[in-house]
Amino acid sequence: MASTDAAAVRADVAIIGAGLSGSCIARQLSAYELDIVLLDKECDVSMGVSRANSGIVHGGFHHNLKYLKSRLEIRGNLMYDRLQRELDFPFKRCGILVAALNDEEMKYIDHLYTQGVENGAIGIEMCSRERMFELEPKLNPDCVGGLHAPGGGVLEPYRFVFSVVESAQKNGVEVVTNFEVVHAERAGERYRIHAADGRQVEARYVVNAAGLFADRVSEIFGAEEFQIIPRKGEYFLLDRATEAAPQRVLFPVPTKVSKGMLVIPTVEGTVLIGPTAQEIEDKEDVSTNADQLNLILDQARKMVPKVSQTDVITAFSGLRPALADGDFYIDISAKAPNFIQVAGIQSPGLTAAPAIGEYVKDLVKKAGCSLVEKADWDPYVSKLPRIRDLGPYEADNLVNANPAYGNVVCRCEEISEAEIVEAIRRGHTTLDGIKYFTRAGMGRCQGGFCSYKIIKLLIRETGMSYKDIQKCGAGSELLRDAL
Ligand SMILES: Cc1cc2nc3c(=O)[nH]c(=O)nc-3n(C[C@H](O)[C@H](O)[C@H](O)COP(=O)(O)OP(=O)(O)OC[C@H]3O[C@@H](n4cnc5c(N)ncnc54)[C@H](O)[C@@H]3O)c2cc1C
Repeated sequence: MASTDAAAVRADVAIIGAGLSGSCIARQLSAYELDIVLLDKECDVSMGVSRANSGIVHGGFHHNLKYLKSRLEIRGNLMYDRLQRELDFPFKRCGILVAALNDEEMKYIDHLYTQGVENGAIGIEMCSRERMFELEPKLNPDCVGGLHAPGGGVLEPYRFVFSVVESAQKNGVEVVTNFEVVHAERAGERYRIHAADGRQVEARYVVNAAGLFADRVSEIFGAEEFQIIPRKGEYFLLDRATEAAPQRVLFPVPTKVSKGMLVIPTVEGTVLIGPTAQEIEDKEDVSTNADQLNLILDQARKMVPKVSQTDVITAFSGLRPALADGDFYIDISAKAPNFIQVAGIQSPGLTAAPAIGEYVKDLVKKAGCSLVEKADWDPYVSKLPRIRDLGPYEADNLVNANPAYGNVVCRCEEISEAEIVEAIRRGHTTLDGIKYFTRAGMGRCQGGFCSYKIIKLLIRETGMSYKDIQKCGAGSELLRDAL
């Protein structure tokens, strides 16, 4: 992401963490006459929890309204259609099914239905066995009935963050990456925030949206003590050719610790199965484990018997940044002045993110920051053409205008040279940054055929040398030992 040099930054509001929460907060605040800086320790935005999750916009029936996360989930869900029109990211309201495999589970479906109705989840429906198979013929024949939440949907979380950040930048927000906050002190009415590399930013208000590290950032600012407990979720990604692809997101009846193992038709046509739920200690541990992966296959087959190991493209994991009480903790700090906590944002944090943006905007105002609306705030970002979405005539016109659209670099995902060059020009200058922005390298061959072509484009466009090419930030140089 195009990022500013922080040396000279003096802001009204500094937001620490450019994931789903921080980026939505930044965009929301960008509608007001404020100087805002969005800081992240990684080389690009959305490289924390927001990079690896299920990508589901939840249906509003899993949690009771006594939880803040539930109230923000309901509101966030409703905000996505408008956001899609403004921000042009792939999003599909495909709906959600929860399948009961026996009468005991059906009793829990009853509870979920009542909760969904009380929560105001639109169109929620109790389903007979026949209705379930009408909605999803690939279900396990043992299914006895279930729940349908038509308002649920799917999106790619990082693509959403990229669009939100682009919009925030367009409206004046400064984004500073590779800025790891390690120390902060009061300097009059402001905070002076120090990065690991010595750079500094000053701000009157600070929002702590640091995901897994929100407890550490809170400590740095002398604010509340709490502990973020990472809970790992592992996944398998299935090729889009799989016969197991359902039409809707399929949930089992949830357990006490998680929503269970799902079968998710992604917005790009592949299928995700998972996630597991395992409390761990190491916040950097995103390894995968054969036992957990076998568990995923077993459980996913209970939902859709056609799930096959031969369709697996890759495995990955993400870490839920959970607090002990299971809820979000979003509030003005009682200890550190003008410091706002946005912590414990585990699921449904993606669904809730737009509503978190609104909620935190109100807290910033409550903390004393004057919010004067900008007359020229522009909610729209420009639409980026993707060659694989176009029909032959449109594609022909585009290639005539720019022949680089006719050079397909990533064959699995049909990503053209022009799309990769656009990503680089927008500041995504690592292989992961380009992958998450364009999908190049996310298909069947997982970058086996296109990575070297992308490296060559990076060198051509930026003037970088082979030695500088990174997978994702310092220390991940790809060719350092080879040269
Ligand atoms: C397995 C799994 C499945 C999930 N599925 C869903 C789902 O289907 N639907 C749903 O609604 N939600 C889901 N979630 C939840 C959702 O992914 C999270 O709620 C959301 O991504 C949290 O975003 P965030 O911005 O709060 O945190 P993050 O994305 O982690 O952002 C925090 C940022 O802070 C930065 N940072 C940390 N420390 C510092 C520092 N010292 N200095 C500077 N920067 C710092 C990090 O680099 C990071 O980019 C899932 C989560 C997981 C793990």
